[in-house]
Amino acid sequence: MLAITVSSCSLVWFRDDLRLRANPALDAAAKSGQAVICLYILEDGSDAFRQPGGAKKWWLDKSLSSLDQSLQELGGKLVLKRCSDRTTEETLLKFAKDNQCSEVYWNRRYAPHEVEKDKAIKSALQAEGRSVHSFNGSLLREPWETRTGSSDCYRVFTPFWNAMRPDYVRSHPTGVPKLTFGVTEDSDTIDDWALHPTTPDWSAGLAETWQPGEVGAYERLKDFLENALKGYKANRDRPDLNATSRLSSHLAFGEISPQDIWSIVLNHMDSNPGVDSDGWAFLRELAWRDFSYSLLFQSDALHSVNWNPRFNAFPWNRNDAFLLAWQKGQTGYPIVDAGMRQLWHTGWMHNRVRMVVGSFLVKHLLQDWREGETWFWDTLVDADWANNPASWQWIAGSGADAAPYFRIFNPMTQGEKFDPNGDYVRRWVPEIAKLPTKYLFEPWSAPKEVQKATNVLIGHTYPKPIVEHKKAREAALQAYESTK
Ligand code: FAD
Repeated sequence: MLAITVSSCSLVWFRDDLRLRANPALDAAAKSGQAVICLYILEDGSDAFRQPGGAKKWWLDKSLSSLDQSLQELGGKLVLKRCSDRTTEETLLKFAKDNQCSEVYWNRRYAPHEVEKDKAIKSALQAEGRSVHSFNGSLLREPWETRTGSSDCYRVFTPFWNAMRPDYVRSHPTGVPKLTFGVTEDSDTIDDWALHPTTPDWSAGLAETWQPGEVGAYERLKDFLENALKGYKANRDRPDLNATSRLSSHLAFGEISPQDIWSIVLNHMDSNPGVDSDGWAFLRELAWRDFSYSLLFQSDALHSVNWNPRFNAFPWNRNDAFLLAWQKGQTGYPIVDAGMRQLWHTGWMHNRVRMVVGSFLVKHLLQDWREGETWFWDTLVDADWANNPASWQWIAGSGADAAPYFRIFNPMTQGEKFDPNGDYVRRWVPEIAKLPTKYLFEPWSAPKEVQKATNVLIGHTYPKPIVEHKKAREAALQAYESTK
């Protein structure tokens, strides 16, 4: 592809949409007929929203390199700019001016803080005579598109899903557009940003698990469709199986378009009879993501303020030892410990186990859901502005469409039901792997001779349960009653 120097060009500002394929902003810029400059800004200036955690920074580092690589293969490059002592607005305005960009394109974001910021940036660019074009590149439908009869937002998922599903329109750009690139020498290098952890480098488990970037995203979707979509509905709750798509981080970074996923899955359903109910079960999960974004659209504080103010009076019982045991996977409850260790090693955890560990933290241990949300924010590669806080509030009972507080997961029966052969627990909690399955989810109940024969010594080789299930359950219910 030809790289030319031009007097004016189109700027594509990449944010949560790190892909070339099915990218509405890039597609429109390509159609502008002008040369295109592709820019990513590390928004750590004074007007920044929430900063990414460690695992997300690791992914961002690889994802940006991958996008740059794809652009280089087409004859372009990804320009990197850091805010440093400037705001995002100042950084973008200066760049557009220095590089004579008459048109600016981006895909929209949805936290109120970001919406306001984007509006201000748009006005400032327009005041300088530049045109601004924004698109939906991240959601199936934008928050204002799915509304109740009284034009309000939905607070419960099922009616939201029923309303959006029949209305959903499939038209969106597909493929990589034909691009001509403008030239700029003015870029940071990815190494300047030091996003990869160094002292220590804890990322080996992440590197062996994931392939960040658009290519990895579409390969993962293909693999899921070929090997796991059939049976998804029945198996999606099984952490011992490879039964879900694992597309969440690719979606969080916009390396794959949800609209593209939707149409690819529908086409797959058309050409593979018998997978309809699995396909719809999967698309329904994808719509939960839109639902979380419709909540974020209403509140920047989704990660810090109870959606239901009744929970403001909840008597959380801060206990640093409990929190640490939970974070390290040392609670003495194998399904909880397995999940927390999977998270630490791979930066991801199966959804069913997220629910179990979340419930355990806020109900068995009475720790504030914000502690769990913050830990997940730092350790998940898919840590998402909307999904993470919305899911934690769901778990805690304080959210919009929340699990009732009195629904307290029993970690033993959850393990028995969803990890029936114990493969998941044995993988992540190897010190109890030799126990017979009937004792695996409550190892303290194994008779002494069984413990001895399997090299398990509760309180030595594996922790005693840090709280007793029945007592913890009663204490949680009492705490909840006290908020009435
Ligand atoms: P699949 O089952 O293959 O689903 C496909 C896609 O649908 C997912 O990639 C995701 O984008 C979306 N999705 C699925 N389930 C949900 C859900 N319950 N809510 C919203 N979207 C969903 N998901 C995140 O993407 N980021 C987070 O930070 C996050 N934090 C969570 C915290 C807690 C306490 C809980 C209980 C759930 C959280 N989830 C989060 C939701 C869910 O666990 C993950 O999206 C899912 O496990 C990702 O695996 P997958 O891609 O294989 O999912």
